[in-house]
Amino acid sequence: SDSSSDPLLDGLNVPQREAVLATEGPVLMLAGAGTGKTAALTARLAHIIRSRLAWPSEILCVTFTNKAAREMKERVGHLVGPAVEGMPWLGTFHAIAAKMLRRHAELAGLQSNYTIIDTDDQLRVLKQLIQAEGLDEKRWPPRQLAQCIDRWKNKGLRPEDLDALENESFANGQGQKFYRLYQDRLKTLNACDFGDLLLHVVTILRSYPEVLEQYRARFKYIMVDEYQDTNQIQYLWLRLLAQPRHNICVVGDDDQSIYSWRGAEVANILKFEKDFPGAKIIKLEQNYRSTPDILAAASGLIDANSQRLGKTLWTERNGGDKVRVIGVWDAPEEARRVGEEIERLEREGASLNQAAILVRAQFQTREFEDRFIAIGMGYKIIGGFRFYERAEIRDALAYLRLISQPSDDLAFERIYNTPKRGLGDKTLEKLHRHARVRGVPLSLAAVEIADTDELPARARNTLVDFMRGVARWRDLAKIAAPAELVRTLLDESGYTAALQAEKTAESAGRLENLTELARAMEEYETLGDFLEHVSLVMDNEAADDAEKVTIMTMHGAKGLEFDNVFLPGWEEGVFPSQRALDEGGLASLEEERRLAYVAITRARRRCTILHAANRRIYGQWTSSIPSRFIADLPDAHIEQESTLSGGASLWRAQWSERDDPFAHVARDNSARAATRGPGWQRAAASAYDPTPRRLPEATRSAASFAAKPRGDIALG
Ligand code: ATP
Ligand code: MG
Repeated sequence: SDSSSDPLLDGLNVPQREAVLATEGPVLMLAGAGTGKTAALTARLAHIIRSRLAWPSEILCVTFTNKAAREMKERVGHLVGPAVEGMPWLGTFHAIAAKMLRRHAELAGLQSNYTIIDTDDQLRVLKQLIQAEGLDEKRWPPRQLAQCIDRWKNKGLRPEDLDALENESFANGQGQKFYRLYQDRLKTLNACDFGDLLLHVVTILRSYPEVLEQYRARFKYIMVDEYQDTNQIQYLWLRLLAQPRHNICVVGDDDQSIYSWRGAEVANILKFEKDFPGAKIIKLEQNYRSTPDILAAASGLIDANSQRLGKTLWTERNGGDKVRVIGVWDAPEEARRVGEEIERLEREGASLNQAAILVRAQFQTREFEDRFIAIGMGYKIIGGFRFYERAEIRDALAYLRLISQPSDDLAFERIYNTPKRGLGDKTLEKLHRHARVRGVPLSLAAVEIADTDELPARARNTLVDFMRGVARWRDLAKIAAPAELVRTLLDESGYTAALQAEKTAESAGRLENLTELARAMEEYETLGDFLEHVSLVMDNEAADDAEKVTIMTMHGAKGLEFDNVFLPGWEEGVFPSQRALDEGGLASLEEERRLAYVAITRARRRCTILHAANRRIYGQWTSSIPSRFIADLPDAHIEQESTLSGGASLWRAQWSERDDPFAHVARDNSARAATRGPGWQRAAASAYDPTPRRLPEATRSAASFAAKPRGDIALG
């Protein structure tokens, strides 16, 4: 066939084309970062639709983020036109599972308008259960139970599936009991948590062969991006659906497996050939994303891992800057420095949209936020700072949830006295008792109890008023747009008035957020649609199109790319994280190193790594040493500088070989730092910060910094 004049195939190399055209039978694309795996998968999707091998609705395509799903859909749209309309089964595991469960909720003992609860609600439920069973919640924290339950769900284990060992992992052999209690409670609430989505679906598919057959017949093609990070339940689900056709194409990179803490099993990609005999294996080796130095630095780093398949990467590109490694005094200086670098790039014509700061831990973002606000640089935080997790937003959402679903007891509890109506814990206790006796949700109990004399008159009247409001808003929800509904209920419930009465800077901000919420709701036709969106949305992508620097975690950045990437906090204890160090095992360190590899390979043109000599963690100043991952970077491809004089000897002194098996790394870091790059002394003049700080005595005396303030730094 004449594929050379085909816009769909034109932009692809030979192995990519092979992957696109190999539509029948299992295909595995196992290749390094930036080699065009996602691009090939997208072209394959377009090819299948265009060739009419299947309707868009007959293709199951799993992406790692909602954003990736949108982008894929958009690209396919460019290639095949309006045929792309209606790709209902393109999305994340969560989104697709939620949709399936919606259709068959009753088979899982739920109603189709079930609520998806988040971690916060989950913890509240678990706490209540632990208390009700008379357990000491300090000894057996709800969070620990939540982790166990998530782990079980990721493994596809229901309460009845737990073995003795798993059962032991909470409260001396009560794991199973609590897991069961929790699942029962969720059912009464007509709710499920994130882990339930796929677990329920897999249970349904296994128990109802006719449902399974229906989906098997439907999905002519299955495609999965980032397959190296699938967990057991996702794997089971895909395996069920892929029979008997085996038209499944997965792509991934074992070096980018970074979610084992969430139950991901890199083994899934490594055993694909076994699971699907005769699978076509396609390797991609040409990297199209990064400059040679970035690619070489990343490759050199990941080479230090022992547990990997190993692969070759090359690029046709040439030129570009080396990876920069910058040592600074502390976190504020780190943020200042990054701000300056981005401003410099901006002056050279770079777009803020093409700059990203990728952090290891959430706590690192605040410093950058503060700095960017101070210098008026647009930024967006993706993933971590969640708009929908703010208190006032959660309150408003609780109202909306209660309106949408009367049995949502958690929502009821959150708002029955918010804003303050004078309904205390006593009232709630009585409501709970009534609800239990009658077997009804709290909101119904609140209506019924008004006909009794169980409550004092004042509380009763208040409650009646409140429930009348809820009934009215529920009626309004049927006819009004969601945005109008939320505005009305915030006014009528007194929520807005209570905030206005506070008259603080904080309350003003909260009011703005609520306005923003209503604005967000304008995009939705029904309340149900909106609530579904909220429960699925993991990231708050900015709506307006002003240019913005992206701040997000390295984990969240998987699959993305930016011209300019900044990687702050490369210090022992931050990255690799303290937890990885405490666990101490090779596996956790290698996972951190894979994360470093993911982070560096996000960069197209420039990659800048930073490490601070001092960091305040939980209010305590600690002096830190550069990350061992910096030592892993091959000399020839990096350029190191520091704004500290004396830093090298400081680090050397603090790092005692006897106490730490990795001392040689730090020594090596220090030695390199001292010999490499433009020199510590000269660079020291570039970022002097006169702000007084309290530092540990030893740090203060050991560190000498050049006393030459720079004029153009905003002080204070
Ligand atoms: P990751 O492992 O990070 O997910 P990936 O393998 O999925 O990376 P893509 O994101 O698909 O890689 O592609 C990386 C970059 O290379 C993108 O900008 C893409 O447009 C470009 N690209 C992919 N294939 C080609 C090609 N054949 N020719 C030119 N550019 C390409
Ligand atoms: Mg990709």
